[in-house]
Amino acid sequence: QTTEERYSSYRFYDSEVNAQLQTRLRLETDLGMALERQELLLYYQPRIQLETGQLVGAEALLRWQHPTLGMVLPAEFIPIAEETGLILPIGEWVLRTACNQLKQWQSQPLPEGFKLSVNLSARQFQQPDLVEVVQQILAETAVKAAALELEVTESLIMADVKVTTEMLSQLHQQGVALALDDFGTGYSSLGYLRQFPFDTLKIDRSFVQDVTESSEAAAVVKAIVTLAKSLGLGIVAEGIETRSQLTYLQSLQCDEGQGYHFARPEPAAAIALRFPQPTSVG
Ligand code: C2E
Ligand code: MG
Ligand code: MG
Ligand code: MG
Repeated sequence: QTTEERYSSYRFYDSEVNAQLQTRLRLETDLGMALERQELLLYYQPRIQLETGQLVGAEALLRWQHPTLGMVLPAEFIPIAEETGLILPIGEWVLRTACNQLKQWQSQPLPEGFKLSVNLSARQFQQPDLVEVVQQILAETAVKAAALELEVTESLIMADVKVTTEMLSQLHQQGVALALDDFGTGYSSLGYLRQFPFDTLKIDRSFVQDVTESSEAAAVVKAIVTLAKSLGLGIVAEGIETRSQLTYLQSLQCDEGQGYHFARPEPAAAIALRFPQPTSVG
C-alpha cells in the first residue's frame, strides 16, 4: 500500500465517521424542537391472545417524522433523548398522547380487557414525581388505570433498586399494570421477579426468533413461560414472525404475542379497524 492509498483510505474512514457524527449532531439539535414542531407520533402494535387470535391490547411505539430525514425509528433517537434528558418531556408526551388515544378508542366497544402499553425509560424513574405525572394524566384523560400497562426493562431495576421498587409499587397500587420488557436480555437475577410487582413478562424477540431453528432458544423460551406461569405472571412473546414460531408458543400455552406475523406497528386509525365493528341496523 502506498502512502497515497493509505491516506485516501484514512480520508474515506474520516468522512464516514464524520457523516455519522454529523447525523448524530443533527438529530440531537433537531430532537430538541421535535415536540413543539409536532413531529413526534405514536404507532401502535396489536397484542394478540395466542389461543384465540383475539386482539387484547396494543403497544404504543414512538416515531419521529423528521422534515428531511423521513421516519426516524426509536433505536436512533431514544438513546439521544435519554442522554440529553429530553426523554422526560417526550416520555410525558407519549403517556398523555397514548392515554388520549385510548380514551378516544373507548368511545366504541373495545375487546374486553383491552390494554394499552407504554414504554418507559429508566431515566424517567429518576423524576421524583413520575408517579404523580402518571396519576395526573390518568385523571385528566379519564382513563382507568387498569387499562394502562407500563413496560420497563431490566436496566431500570439495575439503577436504584430501592427507589425503583417504591415507585413501581406506587404505580401498581394505583392499578396500573406493569410489564418487564425484553426479558432474558438483561442481567437481573430471577430473584427480582419476586421483589418487583410485575404482572407480565415479555420474552425478548431474540429468543422467539430462533425457537424453530435452535433447540437452545426453544428450551429458554419454554423455561421462561414455565417460570412466568409458576409465579402467576402473564406472558407475552415479542416478535412472532412465522406460523411455526406461533405454533411452538401455542404448544407452550404462552398467553399472548406480538409480531409481524400478526401486524406491524400501525397508525391509530388502523388499530380502530380491528375493534369489533358495530353491526349496521336496518
Ligand atoms: P420494545 O418495547 O421491545 O418494542 C418492540 C419493538 O420490536 C418495536 O420496535 C417493534 O416495532 C419491533 N417488533 C415488533 N414485532 C416485530 C417482529 O415481528 N419482527 C421484528 N423484527 N421487530 C418487531 P421499535 O418500534 O423500533 O421500538 C424499539 C424500541 O424503542 C422499543 O422496544 C422500546 O424499547 C423503545 N421505544 C419505543 N417507543 C418508546 C417510547 O415511547 N418510550 C421509550 N422510552 N422507549 C420507546
Ligand atoms: Mg416494549
Ligand atoms: Mg421488548
Ligand atoms: Mg426491545
